Amino acid sequence: MSMSRRDFAAALPAMLAGSHRAAAQQGQTQAHLPSGVYVFADLPVRRTANLEYRPIIQGQTIDACNFSVHESSLAPNSEPHPPHRHKGEEMFLLLDGTLEVTINGSASRVTRGSVAFIGSSDEHGIRNVGEKPAKYYVIELGPQK
Ligand SMILES: [Zn+2]
Repeated sequence: MSMSRRDFAAALPAMLAGSHRAAAQQGQTQAHLPSGVYVFADLPVRRTANLEYRPIIQGQTIDACNFSVHESSLAPNSEPHPPHRHKGEEMFLLLDGTLEVTINGSASRVTRGSVAFIGSSDEHGIRNVGEKPAKYYVIELGPQK
């Protein structure tokens, strides 16, 4: 059987998914995460001068998409890092406080219950502009480089 370049391009995602599963079965890469419960109180906390950071879950979906979730508490008048870009997508789900989210130079304030979605390769940064710690979840999807 011969494949045209077009057939090959069309079949590539399925072939890669199949090779991922085969590799995962051989222990070469991480398999997709099984169902589970992650108890917040049991998760270790990491601290910097302005940030408390709690990794919650990290792994791959059934389609081999990297994802991770962490919770952060950011001190007033601070930012976790300078604005940056990465190929993967990212969401901030604000639990409490007020963040200023800047996406490609455009700043917006978000408060409790709001979500900021960062598309692939868009420059973004966050800053706590409130008077109390800003608590939020971060969900990262895809490559983070
Ligand atoms: Zn980011």
